[in-house]
Amino acid sequence: MEEERLAQFRQMLLARRRSLGERVLRSGEYGRETEQNLADIGDMAVESYTRDFMFGKSADDRRVLQLVAEALARIEDGSYGTCTHCESEIQAKRLEAVPWTPLCIQCQQLQEQGLLQE
Ligand SMILES: [Zn+2]
Repeated sequence: MEEERLAQFRQMLLARRRSLGERVLRSGEYGRETEQNLADIGDMAVESYTRDFMFGKSADDRRVLQLVAEALARIEDGSYGTCTHCESEIQAKRLEAVPWTPLCIQCQQLQEQGLLQE
């Protein structure tokens, strides 16, 4: 991949890492505060609902954050843009939409169907 495009993807990934990192941090703080406030009120149903919601969301953020970190590592080692499974080139459009994806579209579909061999 050209240096210039690689630099663009690196910028996109760094920006995403920053915004996700802040969100993960904030959701952790939010979780703690909420737990305390709601314990005072004593509304356990609302508490567990809020906690499931916040933790579910931040688990997603954490997963993407991990993928972003791995994508940045692949930029550094020169393998970025290549499927980590079958080593074919990942479509440019796909990378633009999901710059942290490690898989080409075919492997992604297999993974979603649970058919991808690790
Ligand atoms: Zn693939």
